[in-house]
Amino acid sequence: APGEHVADRSATVLRVTGVSAAYGSRTVVNDVTFSLRKGETLGLVGESGSGKTTVARLVLGLHEPTQGEIHLHGRRWSGVRERERRPLRSRIQLISQNPLDSFDPRHTVGRLIAEPLRDLPKTDRAARVAELLERVGLPPELASRRPRELSGGQRQRVAIARALGPRPDVLVCDEPVSALDVSVQAQVLDLLADIQAAEGTALLFISHDLGVVHHLCDRVLVMKDGRVVEEGEVDEVFHRPRHPYTVNLV
Ligand code: ADP
Repeated sequence: APGEHVADRSATVLRVTGVSAAYGSRTVVNDVTFSLRKGETLGLVGESGSGKTTVARLVLGLHEPTQGEIHLHGRRWSGVRERERRPLRSRIQLISQNPLDSFDPRHTVGRLIAEPLRDLPKTDRAARVAELLERVGLPPELASRRPRELSGGQRQRVAIARALGPRPDVLVCDEPVSALDVSVQAQVLDLLADIQAAEGTALLFISHDLGVVHHLCDRVLVMKDGRVVEEGEVDEVFHRPRHPYTVNLV
């Protein structure tokens, strides 16, 4: 099956099998299959409207497929009650293009990063926040600032720190650097690559920027009109694209 290059099934953290999705009666994701291994970076490219963000919403458990199944850690993740999903929710985290949209602007950076750490004893939370700030290359005193006082790059680092807090196995990055200056983009991408290498976090990396995907990803899926039209090792797809659409894109 497509997406089934995986020799070691036990290392597969996310499996998407024949998934379709619709808004109302309009199907926008059509029979998509792929899997994501521990520590792997999978790129998802395609023009605007091809269904990339809908795939992100499906794997985050925010949208239900009309067909097919999603498994997280070998357990049913789609088509189950929220109550059953809840214990696994922290295993998969999102980094979006504009993290400020989902942050309460009145909260300090420290509070924003601490929020997903409710399972930790209160006394350990401040230490973990400091550790996370250091992990993403931010000074500890930033904990008392508010997001609007930060640069775009700093805000994106805060979003990454917040996402890493619960030690997820999968980070869904939806155009994570598209809103940043080019010079800052490279720093944030290096940080994501470093996290992937050091923590073994799997990345589903959604981007319309093929250069970025080529630089960062191991494998890539190319989407068009809701379907995966090409997939493979990133070098292979970029140097020997097979589908006319990919040829055009490259
Ligand atoms: P991409 O991320 O590749 O730009 P999307 O997954 O956002 O693609 O969108 C896929 C298709 O679904 C587009 O035609 C878009 O207009 C449509 N769409 C996205 N979100 C909604 C929604 N909430 N309601 C209705 N249609 C939507």
